[in-house]
Parts: sequence; C-alpha cells; structure tokens
Amino acid sequence: MIDQKHISIARSAVEKASLVTRHVQQRLASVRSMTKDDRSPVTIADFASQAVVARELARRLGGVRLVAEESGGFLREPEHKVHLRATIAALRESGAWPDASEDAVLGAIDRGAQEPDPGGTFWTLDPIDGTKGFLRSQQYCIALALIERGEVALGAMACPNLPRSSGAAIDALAPAAGPVGVVFHAVRGAGAFDPVRMATRSPSIRPPVRVAESMEAAHSDHDAAARIMNRAAGAGGYKAVRLDSQCKYAVVARAQADVYLRLPVKPGYIERIWDHAAGSLIARESGCSVTDINGKPLDFARGHGLEANQGVVVAPPDLHARVISAIAELRPA
Ligand code: AMP
Ligand code: MG
Repeated sequence: MIDQKHISIARSAVEKASLVTRHVQQRLASVRSMTKDDRSPVTIADFASQAVVARELARRLGGVRLVAEESGGFLREPEHKVHLRATIAALRESGAWPDASEDAVLGAIDRGAQEPDPGGTFWTLDPIDGTKGFLRSQQYCIALALIERGEVALGAMACPNLPRSSGAAIDALAPAAGPVGVVFHAVRGAGAFDPVRMATRSPSIRPPVRVAESMEAAHSDHDAAARIMNRAAGAGGYKAVRLDSQCKYAVVARAQADVYLRLPVKPGYIERIWDHAAGSLIARESGCSVTDINGKPLDFARGHGLEANQGVVVAPPDLHARVISAIAELRPA
C-alpha cells in the first residue's frame, strides 16, 4: 500500500538528487578539465544522484530493495580516484549530502545493485535519465519508481530543466523561458501530481499534433515516426518535439505534447525498466494510454528489461488508438 510517507520520501529523494545534478551541470567545464574526460560530468552526477536516492530510501525506510543503473565498482578503481573525489565534493558543496564520506557514498551506491523481484516489491532508479541531454544542458530527469508484483505503484520524477509552466512550448534548441524545475509523482489509481493533482489530459487535440520523440535517432526511429504520424495525425498535420529522457512522458501528461513515440531502431533492443517505470505511471494517471507499439501494456514483471514489449506509444486514448492502427497498417506483411 502506498501512503503519504512513501510519496513524500520518493519526492524528496529525487528533489535532493537534483541539487547535486544541477550543481554539476553548472560546472561542466571545470569538472571536465579536472578529470580530463568529456563524459565525466554525467558520470559524477549519475553516481552522486544514485548515492543520494539510495541513502534517502535507506535512512527513511530501512533496507529496501533497489534496482538502479549504477554500481560502485567504477569509482573504486584506483584510476578513477579523481571521479570519486569529484563525486564527494559535488555532494558536499551542493548540500545534497553535506558530510558525505568515500565509504558512505560507495556503500550507498552499492545499495542500488540489487535484483528485481517480479513477485514482490522493489524500487527502481535511473539516477540520470537522458545523459546526452544532461551534457547539452537540456532535458534530463531523475526517475524513481516503486514496483509491486509487476505493477508500477508509485513513480516520482524530478525534471530540473523543464519549464514550470505547462503552457510553455518545449523546444530543445531554445533555452526555456521563465523558471524551470518540476517534480512529478503519480500513485496507481490515485492520479498524477506536479505537485498538485494534474488535470486529466483532454482528449481534444488542437492541430498540429505535437509528437514527442528522442533527440537521439539511435533511440527512436524518426523516419518511421514521420510515416506513422502522416497517417494518424489527420488534416492538421503534426510536428516533432525532440527531447531527451522520460520528461517525454511528463510533457504528454501535462499537454505540452500530444503523443510520445518510441520506435525501435535496433532489432532486439530491450528497454530498461528504470527508463519507463516512473514516467509511464505519470502519463497513465493523467488519463493517457500507455502501451508498446503493438498495443500491449508495458510489462514490469520480467526483470531488468521490458522483455515482452517493443517500443512505447503514449497519448490520450483516441489519438493512441489511431497511432496503434497506423503502426499496424504500415507494418510489412
Ligand atoms: P531518450 O532520452 O528517450 O533518447 O532515452 C534515453 C535512454 O535510451 C537511455 O537511458 C538508454 O537506456 C536508452 N537506450 C540506449 N540505447 C537504446 C536503443 N538502442 N534504443 C532505445 N533506447 C536506448
Ligand atoms: Mg535512462
């Protein structure tokens, strides 16, 4: 059973993690020069974010099962000492963990290296989803979910660079106008919140249909999306809105986009549960239909991956049905 305590712990854990990810994002150049490695800011922010969330869950809930993307092995290697030091410094300076020590941080990160329990209860975390967006100073999120017997029961997601106003247009290439930073959560059967209860997504869509898709062509097939939307959008047409991370679920939930399409590029790629658990519940609880490209519900009872699914389609029910039909019609016989 999800109660107010779980909600407040999940929200504050991702919010606290965003203190340190923001801190690192504001210092991309200095972190890079210190570690002599281009991707180091995201590495450090990833580990720091996981440490914060794992610590918060352990401190406030005791020994929970956490299935997260990272483990402490990398930071323990002697040649990565500089990364470990930078992670500790970021945690302390950002205030996310003011008295962080090497042992405590490595121990917290390792708490996330557990196995899913398909018949039981476990948490899953993507400490930084949308690593490329993080490095471009664009969209990324910290996504945490509680899975009970294969169903997402609670999802919390901090989107530090998302405009606070749901009326703002999403444009990855332009800096967001106005204040940024939204923490979403959703409880199965009880709605989606940002932090107040979000309105049910209206089924009526003003053309052009806004299609949220990955920035990365390697993660979702942009050409296939164009073919599908040419069929499904109707006379008013569509336009693509590209952004990184599970923020795509949230922007459809809050009507900044109308459909999220994730169309497999690499045959056999299996989506990871932490890339979808929190976001999918936020979209569902705001009244959107969430399935894979075959119209099947996402199945979180298979382990680390959505083994039974291919891709993702998220939209208000009418549009969702049109998109699923278009995908079926365009499939080679
Ligand atoms: P996005 O920001 O929506 O492009 O998705 C980012 C996520 O895509 C990452 O967290 C990866 O886990 C995931 N990813 C990595 N490779 C692929 C792939 N070939 N197809 C789909 N998703 C991928
Ligand atoms: Mg991810």
